[in-house]
Amino acid sequence: MSEKMQYIPIAKPWMGEPEAEAAKRAIMSGWVTQGPEVATFEQEFAAYVGSKYACAVSNCTTALHLALLAVGVQPGDEVITVSHSYIATANSIRYCGAVPVFVDIEPQSYNINPVLIADAISDRTRAILVVHQIGMPCNLKAILDVAHQYNLPVIEDAACAIGSEILWDGQWEKIGKPHGDIACFSFHPRKVVSTGDGGMLTTNNPEWDKQFRLWRQHGMSVPDTVRHGAKQVIFESYPMLGYNYRMTDIQAAVGREQLKRLPEIVERRRYLAQRYDQQLADVPGLKLPTEPTWARSNWQSYCVRLPEKCNQVQVMQVMLDAGIATRRGIMCAHRESAYQIEVWSCGTSREACNCELGKCDRLVESEQAQDHAIILPLFHQMTEEEQDRVIAVLKSVCQVGV
Ligand SMILES: *Cc1c(COP(=O)(O)O)cnc(C)c1O
Repeated sequence: MSEKMQYIPIAKPWMGEPEAEAAKRAIMSGWVTQGPEVATFEQEFAAYVGSKYACAVSNCTTALHLALLAVGVQPGDEVITVSHSYIATANSIRYCGAVPVFVDIEPQSYNINPVLIADAISDRTRAILVVHQIGMPCNLKAILDVAHQYNLPVIEDAACAIGSEILWDGQWEKIGKPHGDIACFSFHPRKVVSTGDGGMLTTNNPEWDKQFRLWRQHGMSVPDTVRHGAKQVIFESYPMLGYNYRMTDIQAAVGREQLKRLPEIVERRRYLAQRYDQQLADVPGLKLPTEPTWARSNWQSYCVRLPEKCNQVQVMQVMLDAGIATRRGIMCAHRESAYQIEVWSCGTSREACNCELGKCDRLVESEQAQDHAIILPLFHQMTEEEQDRVIAVLKSVCQVGV
């Protein structure tokens, strides 16, 4: 990398004075957690995605944990999901003492292949946890068809999918309405909007929403806000085992500002993704992401599959030497040592499983995607000049081959 060349990061949150002012407002108010900013952020979030309820929590992993508990996942149950996701997806299932049963992905969308779900269902299956990977909506229509057939709840891991849309009965609707039973979002800085850390659960079921609110605050029967405002002495009780999964008001205040920016962020990301599409279209052997006619991605990440002759690590190194950050394709949980104990984690028949760590006959597409795809820089503030540099370097490595 030459001296004057600016480093292009993989992502960068778009935040500034309004977020700083909002954080200050929460701090100066004297109420810094689980107070009015959280309540307002929840209302604004629900209005944005079109859900009846939204409950803020500490991050998306805790949101997934509570969603699984709400639909009744218990120790020994199985939950169908993908290995090809950030490890938090599968981990949340294990927090319930349940077993993740991994289904392979479709190579084009990097999302769960709905055709393979029925085969993975057993009499221990308690739920289906699907992912809208890197912001691209998964095929919810097909997934819900199978789920209804087997009477299983569907949880959407929408960690990356705030602002993504799906065509539903002729209307474009936001991911998180929800179309399954519960959707879970993340506000980690690597996502499209951020509160530092943070998460949100959306549902149309009032009982589950009530449950989430109890669980996130130690199972405490009286919320702080109610006790604070009470004219009479009240004692809280703890009727169930809860957790500390609270979001702070400082985070929520920042989140409210981020939500205001969201339409502009999505528009910009869609523009930049389209620019990648156009300018990389003629690179021989390079496979670009495709958006189904029924989906609109927020392009949380733009993932390309490299030509056969290219080595993933070497391409990434050439780009890094040119001052451009990339990431490998999305990880596969089943290849990590943390999942070695689960000899059954690849599919339905544990007895018949001959898989080794890092190689599973039933998860070939997932492994291929991890090994041959790379994620290119894409963020709101990225200039066209910066993007042109990414395109030029990638084009030249693909043509020469490494
Ligand atoms: C980021 C991510 C998570 C975890 O979100 P946190 O807010 O960091 O807990 C879960 N699932 C997917 C698909 C993610 O990308």
